[in-house]
Amino acid sequence: MATESSILAGLEPRAFWRNFEALTRIARPSRHEEPVIEHVRRWAEEHGLELRQDEGRNLVIQVPATPGRENAPTITLQGHLDIVCERDPTSPNDPAEGRIVLVRNGEWLTADGTTLGADDGVAIAAMMALVEDESLAHGRLELLMTVAEEVGLEGANALDPSLVGGSILVNLDSEEDGKLTVGCAGSTDTWIRIEARRESVDDGAVSLTVTVSGGQGGHSGMGIALGRSNAVKVLGRVLRETSHAVPLRLVSFEGGKSRNAIPRDATAVCSIAAGDEEAFRGAVGKATETIRDAFSTTDPALTITVDGAETRVDPWGAEATAKLLDAVALVPTGPLAMSQDFDDLVETSTSLGEALTEGDRLTLHSLSRSSNDSALPEVIATLDAAARLAGGELEVKVNYGGWRPKLDSPALAAAKTVYERLFGEPPIVTAVHAGLETAVIGSKVHGLDMLSFGPQIEFPHSPDERVSIPTVERFWRLLVAFLDESSAETT
Ligand SMILES: [Zn+2]
Repeated sequence: MATESSILAGLEPRAFWRNFEALTRIARPSRHEEPVIEHVRRWAEEHGLELRQDEGRNLVIQVPATPGRENAPTITLQGHLDIVCERDPTSPNDPAEGRIVLVRNGEWLTADGTTLGADDGVAIAAMMALVEDESLAHGRLELLMTVAEEVGLEGANALDPSLVGGSILVNLDSEEDGKLTVGCAGSTDTWIRIEARRESVDDGAVSLTVTVSGGQGGHSGMGIALGRSNAVKVLGRVLRETSHAVPLRLVSFEGGKSRNAIPRDATAVCSIAAGDEEAFRGAVGKATETIRDAFSTTDPALTITVDGAETRVDPWGAEATAKLLDAVALVPTGPLAMSQDFDDLVETSTSLGEALTEGDRLTLHSLSRSSNDSALPEVIATLDAAARLAGGELEVKVNYGGWRPKLDSPALAAAKTVYERLFGEPPIVTAVHAGLETAVIGSKVHGLDMLSFGPQIEFPHSPDERVSIPTVERFWRLLVAFLDESSAETT
């Protein structure tokens, strides 16, 4: 057992912080969780607990009920073993090698130059502390520890559902104190692929690069309703508007780095006739003015530039260019429907995340999300129609269904009661417009009553990651009281 360092001395709950600190010395990058799996395996053995592992390497540990609570429903507690291992390039510390140095800054705990791993070390430490604290009362528990959450929920996707026997699942991977999360979005990837013929150019044709940059971007789900510019869409728009004044033919069209983020950069190479360069630059400038004005509140640093380009590749023909720009215009991006259960929450959205030119082909990759599985087919149909109108094809990959909020859930009712009793005010009940492991697990294990909460964690996935110490204690008290409440009635 790890000894308590002076930094965490005196912090409550002691068993939680002891386990949290021990985890900071164990390497646990996504897909390379073996050291932490070994750590948990040894711990389970020491405590005489049965541990099972599925082919996806996820762990499930069975914890017997405390005396008198044997008839209570089994509760599955869930969190992920892996952490994001970011570091400042100059830092001597490295989470990927199990070197996280804790720093206490008033009420915050952070790490020196690296991610802290509170996302989701908090969940694993809490599960271990629950077992070690013999003063607690709870029914039978299942500790579900997944791997590779941070790389597209891989572990949850590979989960063997027969390992989960609980009727209630509490996910411990939320990052906002005072909130109970009861829903999230499912997602579907699509790729529109359009093949078009390239044609040679007349003598003296000029190649120019148009570049869009300076937008704020952000998470393509959580940030989709912030009104920020999408660099791929902006590039499409500026070229369309320019083409009304000066004929242009596309050589290439690229933008976005990840389907999960709103694109901040996009670049097109255009071919124009000799002598059109000045008019082209003028037309781009004119279009830029209107577009910058459209985003003056949300993206004041949006920039569009024209530079000389050198290319030996023939551009697409004039007709093909018009079709490709039509396709970019037709692909929707942004929120499509708001939640009827929660204020200011997007229910359905789609984000054009990447544009890619390969040979004669343009690919437009979107990620569409909804907590309402019945809403997504219409979005996919729109993308399919855009593809066909542009003479292309659509590939669809359904990732996982949404976690649709059930506001009459018994687990939610119990958590609300307990929260109010402990803290004297009601919790905020909400859902997120992003994917959580609960969506994946819920679509594999039917009828699970699910809920998610956690302490306040800020700037996760970055070296600024920090967890609020007082909210850890609040999180712990809520968890302990919830487990007591959910097992008390049947005794
Ligand atoms: Zn997490």
